[in-house]
Amino acid sequence: MKILVINSGSSSLKFQVIDSDTEQVLVRGVCERIGIDGRFTYKPHGGVAVSAAPVAMENHTQAVNVLMEALVDEKNGIIRDFSEIDVIGHRLVHGGEKFTGSVVITDQVIEAMTECNDLAPLHNPANLVGVDACRKLMPDTLMVGVFDTAFNQTMEPKAFLYGLPYRYYEKYKIRRYGFHGISHKYVSRRAAEFMGQDIRRVKTIVCHLGNGASISAVRFGKVVDNSMGFTPLEGLVMGTRSGDVDPGALEFLARKENLDFKQIMAILNQESGVLGISRNLSSDFRELKNAEIKYNDKAALAREIFAYKVAKYVGSYAAAMNGVDNIVFTAGVGENDSDMRQEICGYLEFLGITIDEVKNRDQGEAVRISTGTSRVNVLVVRTNEELEIAREAAAMAESLKGV
Ligand code: ADP
Repeated sequence: MKILVINSGSSSLKFQVIDSDTEQVLVRGVCERIGIDGRFTYKPHGGVAVSAAPVAMENHTQAVNVLMEALVDEKNGIIRDFSEIDVIGHRLVHGGEKFTGSVVITDQVIEAMTECNDLAPLHNPANLVGVDACRKLMPDTLMVGVFDTAFNQTMEPKAFLYGLPYRYYEKYKIRRYGFHGISHKYVSRRAAEFMGQDIRRVKTIVCHLGNGASISAVRFGKVVDNSMGFTPLEGLVMGTRSGDVDPGALEFLARKENLDFKQIMAILNQESGVLGISRNLSSDFRELKNAEIKYNDKAALAREIFAYKVAKYVGSYAAAMNGVDNIVFTAGVGENDSDMRQEICGYLEFLGITIDEVKNRDQGEAVRISTGTSRVNVLVVRTNEELEIAREAAAMAESLKGV
């Protein structure tokens, strides 16, 4: 089967067409810097990367149109007609408690997801725009939604409940859901496979550090905790999101600046994180690094706060699991920013971690960057949410055939 996987994120839209029988990627690509100065790159299997100059991509609808045209492009396309795509698998971020596994996308599912938009204001609308654009172009193609919240459903009440009156959980299901589950699942398993370990016997901390960032504790293949919460706002300091903040500070700010909740949420989601700390210099860690080299103290501070917060979560998750075997870095920053990894691991020497500085600069699909004598394995694993989604979508299509 040919599966088109759409991963429509906050600032980027990644796509792949995967042959589910061979797990071969037929084409992969990414629309980046959506809403900034759109970049579109894609690479057909065995072909050369096609890297277009900046493309007008003001929103996700335009991004989907750009990639669809590339798929059927006469010269570099991989299909002649959209009917060659058997299934479309969509990464969907927040399903509340309505969705605990993958689903066939129907009008009802879209309606139910729209109701969850408030829970993930940066993501769910972006996901739905991707779904909508695909349905318009390929109305007869099976579409499967794979939720980012599903893998985290193994969290116990002691991890997912807030210190709020219990009735609010009963009444509104206010609890921590955790996100990036597709990535945490793939990466924790791939790390164990790479190390020749049985996933049912290892304790892993996955640091998914991208524009959105989260950390998970995965004990014996099941999620014990995840740094994101009721929405993907909780936890680490991120590109534009604040992460953990004392709600008392927000009430104080609202009073001082005469802001309502909507305005406060916009500040927390879009104006905070390393963008806000760096005085709006950038939410892009590459740009912050370049500014830091030029002695921009706020860029340096933003990166320092980010690293410190990651290290604190790793330490607490080692406690939550009463030990850790593998610490794995993944996503844009985790996979590419060796200085950031070095800085984070500097805080973790108490766990017996030592990093091989040469290996830390290696690039690869999976690399062990800790020394042979390090008490904990530290790895960099390229996340592959698309493959995980393709597997789920193919399994769903197969199960429907049997009906
Ligand atoms: P998302 O999917 O949440 O948009 P990504 O996982 O694509 O996020 O990560 C995007 C982030 O990764 C950006 O902040 C970008 O600056 C950072 N990044 C990508 N490459 C590098 C690099 N070589 N060095 C440092 N940061 C990088």
